[in-house]
Amino acid sequence: MSEQFDVVIVGAGPAGLAAGLYAARMNLSAVLVERGPVGGQLLNTELIEDYPGFESILGGELADRMGGHARKFGLDVREFQAVQQIDVAGDGTKIVRMEDGSELTAPALIMAAGGLPRRLGVPGEEELAGRGVSYCAVCDGAFFKGQELAVVGGGDAALEEGDFLTRYASRVYVIHRRDRFRAQPVLQDRARANPKIEFVLDAQVEEVTGQDKVRGVRYLQDGVEKELPVGGVFIFIGFLPNSGLIKAHLEHDPAGYLVTGRDMQTSIEGLWAVGDVRAQLTKQIATAVGDGTTAAVAASQYVDRLKDRQRKAGTAAR
Ligand code: NAP
Repeated sequence: MSEQFDVVIVGAGPAGLAAGLYAARMNLSAVLVERGPVGGQLLNTELIEDYPGFESILGGELADRMGGHARKFGLDVREFQAVQQIDVAGDGTKIVRMEDGSELTAPALIMAAGGLPRRLGVPGEEELAGRGVSYCAVCDGAFFKGQELAVVGGGDAALEEGDFLTRYASRVYVIHRRDRFRAQPVLQDRARANPKIEFVLDAQVEEVTGQDKVRGVRYLQDGVEKELPVGGVFIFIGFLPNSGLIKAHLEHDPAGYLVTGRDMQTSIEGLWAVGDVRAQLTKQIATAVGDGTTAAVAASQYVDRLKDRQRKAGTAAR
């Protein structure tokens, strides 16, 4: 089955939902596909305090509100619909091939598929995933009440999620490979002020230990092998963009993030990249929403130009 739209949006995080809201409100025929439920990374965030206008809101609640708002303007939101591959035909048509065998086509495509947590790549990580190794504090933190935990990483996510995990854990060791954190100062101050957090710095994680469940984490510090007994290891060492779904060659940075112009268009005409899949300074809800808005406006102008051209070509042929 193949369905045709003005614009297909891939990914229902804040960037995709903002793009969808604007596209639908501008009367484009727009569909948004998402492999999970609506919300993207919002669903991995407990409390949001840095989205203007919302002093404090639960990630899940903001996701519901954004989804409801976009649907109100007529956006066709399809949850639990996984994309297998995205192709670009010779005439510029974007073909989104879904895992269920169906196809969505459009002249305009907004890629808002975010990414996946980066893996450490040490022994025990894969084997013990879901049995003490986790990439989501909100999802799994409550399983570790009263236990000691390790958090790996030194960015915003590691410090924020480490702080969150102290709601459940008796102690959280933040293991970071350098002696300086990349995280924002406000998050560093909060973590330092938390008596349940202990920093393990200049430490390179070498193995997650345990048989059926995590027993500890082995690391190298000052040339000395050490092991910390913990019940869980939460890994927050960044993010791998989901740019690989698009088979056509797109300009990207060395980490795989898609490079765009100021209107969010990628190196392929009619294909925009927004939010966490795009190369940019920061990954915030506010910037994702801004990206999605810009791309939807640009996509609307692009679709209008195409329709104008087709109309003129039709008139000339008569
Ligand atoms: P990030 O900022 O890229 O930080 C990744 C951290 O993991 C860095 O400290 C890095 O160490 C470390 N790391 C990377 N690879 C490693 C490896 N192989 N072994 C050990 N450590 C490794 O990633 P993030 O914290 O996930 O944040 C991603 C984006 O989301 C950022 O733009 C961030 O601002 C945003 N974010 C914002 C908030 C918020 O504002 N509240 C919350 C979460 C995330 P080095 O420092 O040594 O490179």
